Formats: sequence, structure tokens, C-alpha cells
Amino acid sequence: PQAVPEKNDDDIFSKILRVNQRFQRHMEQGDIAIPTGKSSTSCSNGVCFWPKSADGLVRIPFTLDSKFTNKEKAIIWGAMHEYEMLTCVQFQNRTTEVNYVRFRSADGCWSYVGKTGGSQELSLMKAGCVKRGIVQHEINHILGFEHEQNRIDRAQYVKILWQNIDPAHYSSFKEHRTSNLGTRYDYSSIMHYGKYSFSRNGLKTLIPIPDENTIIGQRYGLSSMDIAKINKLYGCNVCSDLFPEHSGNLQSRDYPSPHQSYDCMFLIRTPEEKVFLEFDSFDLQTSLGCSGCYVKVYDGDVKSAPVLLDRTCGKTLPPVLIASRNLMLIEFASSSCPTTPGFAATYHTGSC
Ligand SMILES: [Zn+2]
Repeated sequence: PQAVPEKNDDDIFSKILRVNQRFQRHMEQGDIAIPTGKSSTSCSNGVCFWPKSADGLVRIPFTLDSKFTNKEKAIIWGAMHEYEMLTCVQFQNRTTEVNYVRFRSADGCWSYVGKTGGSQELSLMKAGCVKRGIVQHEINHILGFEHEQNRIDRAQYVKILWQNIDPAHYSSFKEHRTSNLGTRYDYSSIMHYGKYSFSRNGLKTLIPIPDENTIIGQRYGLSSMDIAKINKLYGCNVCSDLFPEHSGNLQSRDYPSPHQSYDCMFLIRTPEEKVFLEFDSFDLQTSLGCSGCYVKVYDGDVKSAPVLLDRTCGKTLPPVLIASRNLMLIEFASSSCPTTPGFAATYHTGSC
């Protein structure tokens, strides 16, 4: 395919394609490796999912290529943190597990779809693939997700411009009989092609309908719908939400009505700069040391990150919180105080 200007295709899938075009590996849809001689008769539609343990967690054992630098490993772990904080999917260093994922720096950015059984490779070439969004795109493949625009119901959402597609890649636009899990089509999915993917002439290969200007693809990482789909596919019993925009509002469920008791994690991941969080209202039942109902805020995307606001309850508005970068994690515990109104907050991005 003809190279297209970077400004037109800076979504994650286009970044993947740009790297993979340099190699001859035979793949489907640009970045899906083809399994050889493995039986998958026990799986649905040929895709195998990872098993869920009795404790409700889906554990994926993995190894990391020793070629990755500490900085690259930190990017890969950072990509994994979002799954671990917001879904029931957990990654753990492989010890003796038979089925596991080998993260390697091989020829391009690619993965298999679902669990293949045994050791399976996921390639993140050092030059070009070790970016949060690309890591998450390939991890979503191993969880069993396909490319969003090949959903069986895609004709209602995108128009495929076959005349502009490189004929060698017609098959990359084939609809798949995947279960859509009752979720709505997600233009912002990390699994969506870009508007110019597989173009033979530099013109668009797909356009959103009815509004051609709808932004498609994903620039930074998982979308909030991607998270919801993982939780649905794996039946995760977790409450979580992801806020990937420059600014937005978040609040405890049903705020300010009394709610069912639950614990919830909110992750703010802005596209750049620092996260500012301001509470607009706050009313959590008081307990000694706020051991029952509380809000706790972390300067990062994991609970091991520095604490910006330690367990807080009562009715006093907490101060404005500023993260050191674009990530802020908010832990809301209310399982012991089902009648408390909760909180509402606003976040935005800034540099000072
Ligand atoms: Zn892909």
C-alpha cells in the first residue's frame, strides 16, 4: 500500500501497520498471526478465552523478552495496569504454567487471537511497537478480541470503500461472526482500523456513517467501551470506569441518590500533561479513620503509586488534587455505607 501522510493516520492501528509493512510475515488483517496445527475445537468460533479462577480473576501468565530495556518493560507493565485496575484480567510472571504469553521483540507488532494453548508469542518490536496503545491492542487480541470495524453489524456504522483498498488486503475487511456482547459499536475502540488502513492510493478505505467526520481509531490506549467489553466478555464482577478525555465529570453511581453498596475504581488517563481533579460535592458516611466508606486518590495508575489523598470521608470537600502526570486513580469504597450520597468531581488537563 502507498504510504499516507502521518497526520492522516496517527491512530494506533495505523502505527502498527506502518511498522509491519517492513516485514514479510504472513498475517491476517495486518497484525494477527496465523496459528499452525493447533486444534481449537473446544473454543467458540475458533477463539479460545482464558479461564477464570474461582476467585473471579482471569490470570494470564507471561514472560518478557530480556531484550526489553527497563524503560520498555515499564511501558508494557503500564499498559497491563489498566486491565488489572479496571477489569478482572490480571497478568502474572509465568512460573510453570503451560499456557502463557511470551512478549518478544520480534518482526513487528502482532499477536494471535485468543489463547492458542501452550506458549504463544506476542511480538512488540523494540523499534516502533513498545507504546501503551500498541501493547494494549495486541493484548486485546490475546483476550479474544478482533478488529472493531469487522463486526457483523458494521454496515450500519462504517462504509467500506473497496475501490481504495489494496486488493491483497480485501480479506482484512471481511466481516466476522463475532459476538458483539450486546455492546454498541465503538468508533473509538483501540481495535478499530484507521480511515486510511490498507489504502492502495492514499485515499480513505473506510468512512463512518452517517457522519463522515466522526473521529475513529484510538490515539492513546483502551477506550472506556473497550474496558466494558472485557468485563462483559469475561464476566468480571468489577465496578470500574476509564476517563480518557482531556476533561470530564465523574461521580459515584446514582449520585446523589443512595446507592447499592459497592466498591469502584476510576482511572483518569488524559492524552497529555497533568490531571487536575476538583470535587464538586462530597458526602461519605464518617467512620473512625475512614475505615468504612472512603475515597482515596493515587498519583498514577496503580495502588502502589504515591497517595494524593489518603482515605477521606465526611462532608468536607477535599482540596484540588494535581497528579504529576496524565494518570490518576480514584478508589471509592462504599460497601459498608449503602445510604451515603457519594461524590461528584470534575477533572481537566493542565500543565502548571
Ligand atoms: Zn490488530
